[in-house]
Amino acid sequence: MKFDLHTHHFRCGHADGNIRDYIDAGIEAGLQAIGISDHTPYFGSEEEQAFPRIAMAKSDLRNYVEEVLSLKQEYAGKIDVLLGIESDYFPIHAELYRDTLGQYPFDYIIGSVHHTEDVSIFNKTRWKGLSDARKVEVKKSYYSLIRESAQSGMFQILGHIDAMKGNYPSFSDIIADEAIDETLQVIAESNVAIEINTSGKTKLSGGWYPSDAILERAQHYGVKVTFGSDAHKPQRVGDELEEVRTRLLEIGFTEWVYFKQKQMQIVPL
Ligand SMILES: [Zn+2]
Ligand SMILES: [Zn+2]
Repeated sequence: MKFDLHTHHFRCGHADGNIRDYIDAGIEAGLQAIGISDHTPYFGSEEEQAFPRIAMAKSDLRNYVEEVLSLKQEYAGKIDVLLGIESDYFPIHAELYRDTLGQYPFDYIIGSVHHTEDVSIFNKTRWKGLSDARKVEVKKSYYSLIRESAQSGMFQILGHIDAMKGNYPSFSDIIADEAIDETLQVIAESNVAIEINTSGKTKLSGGWYPSDAILERAQHYGVKVTFGSDAHKPQRVGDELEEVRTRLLEIGFTEWVYFKQKQMQIVPL
């Protein structure tokens, strides 16, 4: 079974192509299922479209859902088009997100921590001048948010769980093993999956999210895994899917999962 659950398109303002381009690319890549998962609007903001280069307007969510559902019908029999979304996780707005997203028939919701201590995880300057102790604290607070997102019950998948390394590769060298282990245990208990997200290659860190070291521990704790390219252009759909499958088998995983109507579908690797 080949699938890719993490794709974006023009609506977020920083991806190329329309939804149909990603579906066609999925067929081209030999996928049986493709998940469309653009970024959620900033529901917590007063503004209609707080950051036009980051996420769609609030009023566009309905169009997004309708377009995916209509393409799902159109492509039935050729490829299974899944309705997903990549949701930010802001604890202060969690109930608003839960209620708003609850109004639509998502196959799954990817919960992604994109902000820690109110600063973007990709902001390179956030690390400038921090003491080693402070860096550990930031890393711990990132993982505590991820734990909270797992326990919120809002998500089927957690997005890119070490993406903080994306623009700051030495993030991986900050020692916070206990926080990561605790997080992986919570994820396993919460029965949410983590994605192996191959978009790290487009950032300074290179590689995948999460690192092999984290994946080995995830396997030990019985965490479920899924795949997402996090494509922001159609050509990246399914990118390194087979390499990920091979690596997961090497690490000791035997199955991976995808979601339909929020039900976990477990398939052999
Ligand atoms: Zn994006
Ligand atoms: Zn993301």
